[in-house]
Amino acid sequence: MKEITESSRRVPVIAETGVLVVGSGPAGLSAALASARTGVETMLVERHGCFGGNITQAMVGTIAWYRHEATVDAGGIGVEFEHRALEMGASLDDPDGMGQLLDADMFKYVADVLVGEAGIVPILHCFSVDAIMDGSSVRGVITESKSGRQAILASCVIDATGDADLAHRAGAPYSVLPKEERMPVTTTFGCSGVDVSEFLAYVRENPSRLADWANRTSGKEDDLFSTWIVEPFNRAKEAGEIPANATIGGYWGGLTEAGEATNINVAHTLSVDSIDVWELTRAEMDGRQKAIWALEALKKYAPGFQNARLRSFNSSLGTRESRRIDGEYVLSEQDVKNQARFDDSIGIFPEFLDAYGEVIMPTTGRYFQVPYRIVVPQRVENLLVAGRSVSAEKAASSATRQMMCCTVTGQGAGVAAAIAVQQRVPCRHVNLSQVQKAIEKQGVRIG
Ligand SMILES: Cc1cc2nc3c(=O)[nH]c(=O)nc-3n(C[C@H](O)[C@H](O)[C@H](O)COP(=O)(O)OP(=O)(O)OC[C@H]3O[C@@H](n4cnc5c(N)ncnc54)[C@H](O)[C@@H]3O)c2cc1C
Repeated sequence: MKEITESSRRVPVIAETGVLVVGSGPAGLSAALASARTGVETMLVERHGCFGGNITQAMVGTIAWYRHEATVDAGGIGVEFEHRALEMGASLDDPDGMGQLLDADMFKYVADVLVGEAGIVPILHCFSVDAIMDGSSVRGVITESKSGRQAILASCVIDATGDADLAHRAGAPYSVLPKEERMPVTTTFGCSGVDVSEFLAYVRENPSRLADWANRTSGKEDDLFSTWIVEPFNRAKEAGEIPANATIGGYWGGLTEAGEATNINVAHTLSVDSIDVWELTRAEMDGRQKAIWALEALKKYAPGFQNARLRSFNSSLGTRESRRIDGEYVLSEQDVKNQARFDDSIGIFPEFLDAYGEVIMPTTGRYFQVPYRIVVPQRVENLLVAGRSVSAEKAASSATRQMMCCTVTGQGAGVAAAIAVQQRVPCRHVNLSQVQKAIEKQGVRIG
Protein backbone atom coordinates (compact mmCIF):
# COMPACT_ATOMS: atom_id res chain seq x y z
CA MET A 1 0.00 0.00 0.00
CA LYS A 2 1.27 3.48 -0.87
CA GLU A 3 2.11 5.51 2.26
CA ILE A 4 2.98 9.09 3.21
CA THR A 5 4.76 10.39 6.33
CA GLU A 6 2.73 12.76 8.51
CA SER A 7 4.72 15.72 9.82
CA SER A 8 5.08 15.76 13.62
CA ARG A 9 3.24 18.54 15.42
CA ARG A 10 2.44 19.83 18.89
CA VAL A 11 -1.03 18.96 20.15
CA PRO A 12 -2.94 20.99 22.78
CA VAL A 13 -3.85 19.16 25.99
CA ILE A 14 -7.51 20.05 26.47
CA ALA A 15 -8.02 18.24 29.77
CA GLU A 16 -6.39 16.19 32.51
CA THR A 17 -8.56 13.84 34.51
CA GLY A 18 -8.51 10.96 36.95
CA VAL A 19 -10.42 8.36 34.93
CA LEU A 20 -11.02 8.72 31.20
CA VAL A 21 -13.65 6.47 29.63
CA VAL A 22 -13.65 6.19 25.84
CA GLY A 23 -16.91 5.00 24.29
CA SER A 24 -20.32 5.36 25.91
CA GLY A 25 -22.23 2.15 25.14
CA PRO A 26 -23.70 0.09 27.99
CA ALA A 27 -20.13 -0.60 29.15
CA GLY A 28 -18.68 2.90 28.88
CA LEU A 29 -21.70 4.65 30.32
CA SER A 30 -21.66 2.27 33.27
CA ALA A 31 -17.91 2.67 33.72
CA ALA A 32 -18.10 6.45 33.77
CA LEU A 33 -21.05 6.49 36.19
CA ALA A 34 -19.36 3.99 38.50
CA SER A 35 -16.06 5.88 38.50
CA ALA A 36 -17.67 9.28 39.12
CA ARG A 37 -19.84 7.83 41.91
CA THR A 38 -16.68 6.44 43.54
CA GLY A 39 -15.56 10.04 43.84
CA VAL A 40 -12.93 10.46 41.12
CA GLU A 41 -12.96 13.10 38.40
CA THR A 42 -14.21 11.28 35.30
CA MET A 43 -14.44 12.19 31.62
CA LEU A 44 -16.49 10.37 28.98
CA VAL A 45 -15.46 10.67 25.34
CA GLU A 46 -17.87 9.58 22.59
CA ARG A 47 -17.41 9.75 18.83
CA HIS A 48 -21.11 10.24 18.04
CA GLY A 49 -23.55 12.93 19.17
CA CYS A 50 -25.23 10.90 21.90
CA PHE A 51 -24.31 8.46 24.64
CA GLY A 52 -25.59 4.89 24.71
CA GLY A 53 -23.65 3.01 22.02
CA ASN A 54 -25.71 0.27 20.42
CA ILE A 55 -28.72 1.17 22.60
CA THR A 56 -29.13 4.60 21.02
CA GLN A 57 -27.11 4.37 17.79
CA ALA A 58 -28.19 0.91 16.63
CA MET A 59 -31.66 0.88 18.29
CA VAL A 60 -30.85 -2.20 20.40
CA GLY A 61 -33.27 -1.73 23.28
CA THR A 62 -33.68 -5.31 24.44
CA ILE A 63 -31.31 -5.08 27.40
CA ALA A 64 -33.00 -7.81 29.45
CA TRP A 65 -35.08 -9.86 27.01
CA TYR A 66 -33.56 -12.97 28.60
CA ARG A 67 -35.17 -12.38 32.00
CA HIS A 68 -37.54 -15.00 33.48
CA GLU A 69 -39.03 -15.48 36.96
CA ALA A 70 -36.04 -17.46 38.23
CA THR A 71 -33.29 -15.38 36.56
CA VAL A 72 -30.69 -13.94 38.92
CA ASP A 73 -29.23 -10.58 37.81
CA ALA A 74 -26.31 -8.56 39.14
CA GLY A 75 -28.45 -5.45 39.64
CA GLY A 76 -26.34 -2.31 39.53
CA ILE A 77 -26.27 0.21 36.71
CA GLY A 78 -27.77 -2.08 34.04
CA VAL A 79 -30.95 -2.51 36.07
CA GLU A 80 -30.82 1.19 36.95
CA PHE A 81 -30.95 1.92 33.18
CA GLU A 82 -34.22 -0.02 33.01
CA HIS A 83 -35.69 1.72 36.09
CA ARG A 84 -34.70 5.23 35.04
CA ALA A 85 -35.94 4.63 31.51
CA LEU A 86 -39.28 3.41 32.88
CA GLU A 87 -39.61 6.46 35.16
CA MET A 88 -38.74 8.86 32.33
CA GLY A 89 -41.07 7.33 29.72
CA ALA A 90 -38.10 5.93 27.82
CA SER A 91 -39.07 2.28 27.71
CA LEU A 92 -41.70 -0.16 26.55
CA ASP A 93 -42.53 -3.68 27.72
CA ASP A 94 -40.36 -6.23 25.99
CA PRO A 95 -42.63 -8.86 24.39
CA ASP A 96 -39.83 -11.43 24.65
CA GLY A 97 -39.32 -11.50 28.40
CA MET A 98 -39.72 -9.64 31.67
CA GLY A 99 -37.32 -6.79 30.90
CA GLN A 100 -37.79 -3.26 29.63
CA LEU A 101 -37.20 -2.38 25.98
CA LEU A 102 -35.20 0.85 26.03
CA ASP A 103 -36.40 3.49 23.57
CA ALA A 104 -33.42 4.44 21.38
CA ASP A 105 -34.36 8.11 21.13
CA MET A 106 -35.55 8.79 24.66
CA PHE A 107 -32.61 6.87 26.12
CA LYS A 108 -30.30 9.50 24.61
CA TYR A 109 -31.93 11.94 27.02
CA VAL A 110 -31.87 9.47 29.95
CA ALA A 111 -28.12 9.06 29.40
CA ASP A 112 -27.62 12.85 29.33
CA VAL A 113 -29.44 13.13 32.66
CA LEU A 114 -27.41 10.31 34.26
CA VAL A 115 -24.13 11.79 33.03
CA GLY A 116 -25.12 15.24 34.31
CA GLU A 117 -26.27 13.99 37.72
CA ALA A 118 -23.01 12.09 38.27
CA GLY A 119 -20.88 15.14 37.45
CA ILE A 120 -19.08 13.37 34.60
CA VAL A 121 -17.27 15.69 32.18
CA PRO A 122 -18.76 14.75 28.77
CA ILE A 123 -17.26 15.19 25.30
CA LEU A 124 -19.39 14.23 22.32
CA HIS A 125 -18.43 14.26 18.62
CA CYS A 126 -14.92 13.34 19.65
CA PHE A 127 -13.09 10.36 18.14
CA SER A 128 -10.24 8.90 20.16
CA VAL A 129 -7.62 7.96 17.58
CA ASP A 130 -4.50 7.02 19.53
CA ALA A 131 -3.13 6.13 22.93
CA ILE A 132 -0.49 8.36 24.53
CA MET A 133 2.15 6.01 25.90
CA ASP A 134 4.93 6.32 28.45
CA GLY A 135 6.72 3.03 28.00
CA SER A 136 4.04 0.39 28.55
CA SER A 137 1.73 2.76 30.45
CA VAL A 138 -1.19 4.60 28.91
CA ARG A 139 -1.12 8.29 29.88
CA GLY A 140 -4.07 9.52 27.83
CA VAL A 141 -5.51 9.65 24.35
CA ILE A 142 -5.24 11.67 21.17
CA THR A 143 -8.59 12.83 19.85
CA GLU A 144 -9.87 14.19 16.55
CA SER A 145 -12.96 16.38 16.36
CA LYS A 146 -14.23 19.57 14.78
CA SER A 147 -11.79 21.28 17.17
CA GLY A 148 -8.90 19.48 15.50
CA ARG A 149 -6.34 17.09 16.93
CA GLN A 150 -6.10 17.32 20.72
CA ALA A 151 -4.91 15.35 23.75
CA ILE A 152 -6.56 14.30 27.01
CA LEU A 153 -4.34 13.06 29.83
CA ALA A 154 -5.61 10.67 32.49
CA SER A 155 -4.36 8.62 35.43
CA CYS A 156 -6.33 5.62 34.16
CA VAL A 157 -8.09 4.98 30.84
CA ILE A 158 -11.02 2.62 30.20
CA ASP A 159 -11.41 1.41 26.64
CA ALA A 160 -15.15 0.91 26.11
CA THR A 161 -15.08 1.41 22.35
CA GLY A 162 -16.50 -2.07 21.75
CA ASP A 163 -13.69 -2.58 19.24
CA ALA A 164 -10.79 -2.34 21.73
CA ASP A 165 -9.51 0.59 19.64
CA LEU A 166 -7.25 1.90 22.39
CA ALA A 167 -5.97 -1.47 23.51
CA HIS A 168 -4.98 -2.02 19.88
CA ARG A 169 -3.26 1.38 19.68
CA ALA A 170 -1.50 0.81 23.00
CA GLY A 171 -0.05 -2.49 21.82
CA ALA A 172 -2.11 -4.82 24.03
CA PRO A 173 -2.55 -8.31 22.60
CA TYR A 174 -5.97 -9.28 21.26
CA SER A 175 -7.61 -11.67 18.86
CA VAL A 176 -10.15 -11.18 16.14
CA LEU A 177 -12.06 -13.87 14.26
CA PRO A 178 -11.86 -14.12 10.48
CA LYS A 179 -14.71 -11.93 9.23
CA GLU A 180 -16.53 -14.94 7.73
CA GLU A 181 -16.92 -16.36 11.27
CA ARG A 182 -18.15 -13.16 12.88
CA MET A 183 -21.76 -12.41 13.68
CA PRO A 184 -23.52 -10.21 11.10
CA VAL A 185 -23.85 -6.46 11.35
CA THR A 186 -27.40 -5.11 11.29
CA THR A 187 -29.37 -2.12 10.04
CA THR A 188 -32.24 -1.73 12.48
CA PHE A 189 -35.24 0.38 11.55
CA GLY A 190 -38.60 1.52 12.88
CA CYS A 191 -42.00 2.01 11.25
CA SER A 192 -44.98 4.26 11.84
CA GLY A 193 -48.49 3.71 10.45
CA VAL A 194 -48.75 0.17 11.81
CA ASP A 195 -52.12 -1.30 12.79
CA VAL A 196 -50.80 -2.85 15.97
CA SER A 197 -53.91 -4.91 16.86
CA GLU A 198 -54.05 -6.40 13.38
CA PHE A 199 -50.35 -7.29 13.54
CA LEU A 200 -50.71 -8.84 17.00
CA ALA A 201 -53.65 -10.94 15.76
CA TYR A 202 -51.36 -12.19 12.94
CA VAL A 203 -48.66 -13.00 15.52
CA ARG A 204 -51.18 -14.93 17.64
CA GLU A 205 -52.20 -16.97 14.59
CA ASN A 206 -48.58 -17.53 13.51
CA PRO A 207 -46.62 -17.68 16.76
CA SER A 208 -42.86 -18.15 16.62
CA ARG A 209 -40.84 -20.22 19.05
CA LEU A 210 -37.21 -19.81 19.96
CA ALA A 211 -36.40 -23.11 18.25
CA ASP A 212 -37.51 -21.53 14.95
CA TRP A 213 -34.21 -19.62 14.78
CA ALA A 214 -31.77 -21.08 17.31
CA ASN A 215 -29.68 -23.98 15.96
CA ARG A 216 -28.53 -25.23 19.37
CA THR A 217 -30.33 -24.94 22.70
CA SER A 218 -30.37 -26.91 25.92
CA GLY A 219 -33.91 -28.03 25.04
CA LYS A 220 -35.76 -26.03 27.69
CA GLU A 221 -35.66 -22.95 25.42
CA ASP A 222 -37.34 -24.48 22.38
CA ASP A 223 -40.97 -23.63 23.08
CA LEU A 224 -40.41 -20.15 24.49
CA PHE A 225 -42.24 -17.38 22.65
CA SER A 226 -40.11 -15.41 20.19
CA THR A 227 -40.65 -12.22 18.20
CA TRP A 228 -38.97 -13.98 15.26
CA ILE A 229 -40.40 -12.98 11.89
CA VAL A 230 -39.37 -14.38 8.54
CA GLU A 231 -42.49 -15.43 6.61
CA PRO A 232 -43.18 -12.08 4.87
CA PHE A 233 -39.58 -11.95 3.63
CA ASN A 234 -39.68 -15.54 2.37
CA ARG A 235 -42.88 -14.78 0.48
CA ALA A 236 -41.25 -11.73 -1.12
CA LYS A 237 -38.28 -13.91 -2.09
CA GLU A 238 -40.57 -16.54 -3.61
CA ALA A 239 -42.30 -13.78 -5.60
CA GLY A 240 -38.91 -12.59 -6.88
CA GLU A 241 -39.26 -9.24 -5.10
CA ILE A 242 -36.19 -9.72 -2.88
CA PRO A 243 -32.99 -11.51 -3.96
CA ALA A 244 -33.20 -15.10 -2.73
CA ASN A 245 -29.83 -14.85 -0.96
CA ALA A 246 -30.56 -11.61 0.94
CA THR A 247 -30.02 -12.12 4.68
CA ILE A 248 -33.37 -10.76 5.87
CA GLY A 249 -35.20 -12.18 8.85
CA GLY A 250 -35.15 -11.50 12.56
CA TYR A 251 -37.20 -9.87 15.28
CA TRP A 252 -39.92 -7.28 15.66
CA GLY A 253 -40.33 -5.10 18.75
CA GLY A 254 -41.40 -1.77 20.16
CA LEU A 255 -45.09 -1.78 19.25
CA THR A 256 -46.76 1.38 20.54
CA GLU A 257 -50.29 2.74 20.86
CA ALA A 258 -49.18 5.45 18.43
CA GLY A 259 -49.01 2.79 15.66
CA GLU A 260 -45.26 2.28 15.68
CA ALA A 261 -42.96 -0.71 15.54
CA THR A 262 -39.83 1.04 16.74
CA ASN A 263 -37.34 -1.86 16.61
CA ILE A 264 -37.23 -4.07 13.54
CA ASN A 265 -34.03 -6.07 13.55
CA VAL A 266 -34.14 -8.08 10.32
CA ALA A 267 -31.64 -6.59 7.82
CA HIS A 268 -28.21 -8.18 8.19
CA THR A 269 -24.92 -8.17 6.30
CA LEU A 270 -22.54 -11.10 6.70
CA SER A 271 -18.75 -11.20 6.61
CA VAL A 272 -18.13 -7.58 7.51
CA ASP A 273 -14.90 -6.42 9.12
CA SER A 274 -16.28 -3.61 11.26
CA ILE A 275 -12.83 -2.18 11.95
CA ASP A 276 -12.30 -1.46 8.26
CA VAL A 277 -13.76 1.82 7.00
CA TRP A 278 -14.43 0.55 3.46
CA GLU A 279 -16.33 -2.45 4.79
CA LEU A 280 -18.33 -0.27 7.18
CA THR A 281 -19.32 1.93 4.25
CA ARG A 282 -20.38 -1.05 2.16
CA ALA A 283 -22.36 -2.55 5.04
CA GLU A 284 -24.17 0.71 5.90
CA MET A 285 -25.43 1.02 2.31
CA ASP A 286 -26.14 -2.68 1.88
CA GLY A 287 -28.07 -2.70 5.18
CA ARG A 288 -30.28 0.22 4.19
CA GLN A 289 -31.10 -1.50 0.88
CA LYS A 290 -32.10 -4.65 2.77
CA ALA A 291 -34.15 -2.66 5.27
CA ILE A 292 -36.11 -1.05 2.42
CA TRP A 293 -36.71 -4.47 0.84
CA ALA A 294 -37.83 -5.73 4.24
CA LEU A 295 -40.23 -2.81 4.70
CA GLU A 296 -41.80 -3.41 1.28
CA ALA A 297 -42.24 -7.11 2.15
CA LEU A 298 -43.82 -6.25 5.50
CA LYS A 299 -46.25 -3.85 3.80
CA LYS A 300 -47.30 -6.52 1.33
CA TYR A 301 -47.26 -9.68 3.44
CA ALA A 302 -47.49 -8.77 7.15
CA PRO A 303 -51.08 -7.94 8.21
CA GLY A 304 -51.11 -4.58 9.99
CA PHE A 305 -48.15 -3.17 8.04
CA GLN A 306 -50.02 -2.28 4.83
CA ASN A 307 -49.87 1.49 5.56
CA ALA A 308 -46.50 1.44 7.32
CA ARG A 309 -43.86 4.08 6.63
CA LEU A 310 -40.20 4.20 7.49
CA ARG A 311 -39.95 6.10 10.79
CA SER A 312 -36.22 5.79 11.47
CA PHE A 313 -33.04 4.04 10.43
CA ASN A 314 -30.45 3.35 13.08
CA SER A 315 -28.02 6.26 13.18
CA SER A 316 -25.08 3.89 12.84
CA LEU A 317 -24.67 0.28 11.81
CA GLY A 318 -25.03 -2.21 14.68
CA THR A 319 -21.81 -4.18 15.24
CA ARG A 320 -21.83 -7.33 17.34
CA GLU A 321 -18.14 -8.18 17.51
CA SER A 322 -14.63 -7.34 16.48
CA ARG A 323 -11.48 -7.34 18.66
CA ARG A 324 -11.38 -9.20 21.98
CA ILE A 325 -8.39 -8.58 24.23
CA ASP A 326 -6.15 -11.27 25.68
CA GLY A 327 -6.56 -10.41 29.32
CA GLU A 328 -5.04 -11.63 32.56
CA TYR A 329 -7.68 -14.38 32.35
CA VAL A 330 -9.62 -15.67 29.35
CA LEU A 331 -13.22 -16.52 30.28
CA SER A 332 -14.08 -19.96 28.91
CA GLU A 333 -17.21 -21.64 27.62
CA GLN A 334 -16.99 -23.97 30.64
CA ASP A 335 -16.96 -20.96 32.97
CA VAL A 336 -20.19 -19.50 31.62
CA LYS A 337 -21.94 -22.88 31.40
CA ASN A 338 -20.77 -24.28 34.75
CA GLN A 339 -21.48 -21.44 37.17
CA ALA A 340 -17.80 -20.48 37.53
CA ARG A 341 -16.77 -18.81 40.78
CA PHE A 342 -13.78 -16.44 41.07
CA ASP A 343 -12.05 -14.74 44.01
CA ASP A 344 -11.77 -11.56 41.94
CA SER A 345 -15.49 -11.41 41.04
CA ILE A 346 -16.73 -7.94 40.06
CA GLY A 347 -20.31 -9.05 39.43
CA ILE A 348 -22.44 -11.90 38.18
CA PHE A 349 -24.24 -12.69 34.96
CA PRO A 350 -27.01 -15.26 34.44
CA GLU A 351 -26.42 -18.36 32.34
CA PHE A 352 -27.50 -16.60 29.18
CA LEU A 353 -25.73 -17.25 25.89
CA ASP A 354 -26.87 -16.04 22.50
CA ALA A 355 -24.55 -16.11 19.50
CA TYR A 356 -23.28 -18.31 16.68
CA GLY A 357 -26.60 -20.17 16.54
CA GLU A 358 -26.55 -21.28 20.19
CA VAL A 359 -29.07 -19.97 22.71
CA ILE A 360 -29.24 -20.85 26.39
CA MET A 361 -31.85 -18.90 28.32
CA PRO A 362 -31.54 -18.21 32.07
CA THR A 363 -34.87 -19.75 32.96
CA THR A 364 -33.19 -21.13 36.09
CA GLY A 365 -31.26 -19.29 38.80
CA ARG A 366 -27.89 -20.39 37.44
CA TYR A 367 -25.22 -17.70 36.97
CA PHE A 368 -21.44 -17.26 36.73
CA GLN A 369 -19.18 -14.75 38.41
CA VAL A 370 -17.35 -12.23 36.24
CA PRO A 371 -13.63 -12.04 37.13
CA TYR A 372 -11.80 -8.70 37.24
CA ARG A 373 -8.93 -10.19 35.22
CA ILE A 374 -11.01 -10.26 32.00
CA VAL A 375 -10.99 -6.44 31.89
CA VAL A 376 -7.23 -6.22 32.53
CA PRO A 377 -5.20 -6.44 29.30
CA GLN A 378 -1.81 -8.10 29.20
CA ARG A 379 1.36 -6.01 28.84
CA VAL A 380 -0.20 -2.52 29.02
CA GLU A 381 -0.61 -0.55 32.28
CA ASN A 382 -3.24 2.00 33.33
CA LEU A 383 -5.72 0.61 30.83
CA LEU A 384 -8.86 -1.45 31.43
CA VAL A 385 -11.15 -2.78 28.69
CA ALA A 386 -14.90 -3.18 29.31
CA GLY A 387 -17.86 -4.36 27.24
CA ARG A 388 -17.99 -6.70 24.30
CA SER A 389 -14.22 -6.76 23.81
CA VAL A 390 -13.33 -8.22 27.22
CA SER A 391 -11.10 -11.29 27.35
CA ALA A 392 -13.27 -14.31 26.52
CA GLU A 393 -13.26 -17.35 24.28
CA LYS A 394 -15.55 -17.15 21.26
CA ALA A 395 -18.28 -19.25 22.92
CA ALA A 396 -18.01 -17.34 26.23
CA SER A 397 -18.37 -14.03 24.40
CA SER A 398 -21.95 -15.17 23.66
CA ALA A 399 -22.52 -14.13 27.28
CA THR A 400 -20.03 -11.29 27.80
CA ARG A 401 -21.28 -9.39 24.73
CA GLN A 402 -24.79 -9.11 26.19
CA MET A 403 -25.59 -5.53 27.15
CA MET A 404 -26.35 -6.38 30.77
CA CYS A 405 -23.01 -8.18 31.07
CA CYS A 406 -21.35 -5.14 29.45
CA THR A 407 -22.81 -3.01 32.25
CA VAL A 408 -21.28 -5.43 34.78
CA THR A 409 -17.78 -5.27 33.26
CA GLY A 410 -18.22 -1.52 32.80
CA GLN A 411 -19.28 -0.86 36.38
CA GLY A 412 -16.53 -3.12 37.76
CA ALA A 413 -13.87 -1.45 35.60
CA GLY A 414 -15.13 2.02 36.57
CA VAL A 415 -14.94 1.34 40.30
CA ALA A 416 -11.54 -0.39 40.00
CA ALA A 417 -10.07 2.46 37.92
CA ALA A 418 -11.32 5.06 40.38
CA ILE A 419 -9.89 3.22 43.39
CA ALA A 420 -6.58 2.68 41.58
CA VAL A 421 -6.40 6.44 40.98
CA GLN A 422 -7.27 7.17 44.62
CA GLN A 423 -4.61 4.68 45.82
CA ARG A 424 -2.07 5.83 43.19
CA VAL A 425 -1.44 2.25 42.08
CA PRO A 426 -1.60 0.69 38.58
CA CYS A 427 -5.09 -0.72 38.05
CA ARG A 428 -3.60 -4.20 37.60
CA HIS A 429 -2.54 -4.07 41.29
CA VAL A 430 -5.56 -2.35 42.80
CA ASN A 431 -6.75 -3.64 46.20
CA LEU A 432 -9.46 -6.05 45.07
CA SER A 433 -11.27 -6.51 48.34
CA GLN A 434 -11.69 -2.73 48.51
CA VAL A 435 -12.94 -2.72 44.91
CA GLN A 436 -15.42 -5.51 45.66
CA LYS A 437 -16.78 -3.68 48.72
CA ALA A 438 -17.23 -0.50 46.69
CA ILE A 439 -18.98 -2.40 43.87
CA GLU A 440 -21.36 -4.03 46.35
CA LYS A 441 -22.02 -0.62 47.89
CA GLN A 442 -23.16 0.49 44.43
CA GLY A 443 -25.81 -2.25 44.51
CA VAL A 444 -24.09 -4.97 42.46
CA ARG A 445 -24.28 -8.60 43.47
CA ILE A 446 -20.81 -10.12 43.19
CA GLY A 447 -21.27 -13.46 44.95
C1 LIG B 1 -28.59 -5.49 15.89
C2 LIG B 1 -28.06 -5.91 17.22
C3 LIG B 1 -28.93 -6.55 18.12
C4 LIG B 1 -28.46 -6.90 19.37
N1 LIG B 1 -29.35 -7.44 20.28
C5 LIG B 1 -28.98 -7.57 21.56
C6 LIG B 1 -29.94 -7.92 22.55
O1 LIG B 1 -31.10 -8.14 22.26
N2 LIG B 1 -29.53 -7.99 23.84
C7 LIG B 1 -28.22 -7.75 24.20
O2 LIG B 1 -27.91 -7.78 25.40
N3 LIG B 1 -27.29 -7.44 23.27
C8 LIG B 1 -27.64 -7.33 21.97
N4 LIG B 1 -26.72 -6.96 21.04
C9 LIG B 1 -25.30 -6.84 21.44
C10 LIG B 1 -25.02 -5.55 22.19
O3 LIG B 1 -25.73 -4.47 21.60
C11 LIG B 1 -23.53 -5.20 22.23
O4 LIG B 1 -22.76 -6.33 22.49
C12 LIG B 1 -23.28 -4.15 23.31
O5 LIG B 1 -23.96 -2.96 22.96
C13 LIG B 1 -21.81 -3.85 23.48
O6 LIG B 1 -21.68 -2.79 24.39
P1 LIG B 1 -20.35 -1.94 24.45
O7 LIG B 1 -20.58 -0.85 25.43
O8 LIG B 1 -19.20 -2.86 24.63
O9 LIG B 1 -20.17 -1.36 22.97
P2 LIG B 1 -21.12 -0.47 22.05
O10 LIG B 1 -22.54 -0.57 22.45
O11 LIG B 1 -20.76 -0.84 20.66
O12 LIG B 1 -20.62 1.00 22.35
C14 LIG B 1 -19.34 1.45 21.97
C15 LIG B 1 -19.33 2.97 22.01
O13 LIG B 1 -18.01 3.46 21.79
C16 LIG B 1 -18.04 4.51 20.81
N5 LIG B 1 -16.74 4.48 20.17
C17 LIG B 1 -16.22 3.47 19.42
N6 LIG B 1 -14.98 3.76 19.05
C18 LIG B 1 -14.69 4.99 19.55
C19 LIG B 1 -13.54 5.82 19.51
N7 LIG B 1 -12.42 5.41 18.91
N8 LIG B 1 -13.59 7.03 20.14
C20 LIG B 1 -14.72 7.42 20.78
N9 LIG B 1 -15.83 6.66 20.85
C21 LIG B 1 -15.82 5.46 20.26
C22 LIG B 1 -19.20 4.11 19.92
O14 LIG B 1 -19.68 5.22 19.18
C23 LIG B 1 -20.22 3.59 20.95
O15 LIG B 1 -20.97 4.63 21.52
C24 LIG B 1 -27.11 -6.65 19.74
C25 LIG B 1 -26.23 -6.05 18.83
C26 LIG B 1 -26.70 -5.68 17.58
C27 LIG B 1 -25.77 -4.98 16.63
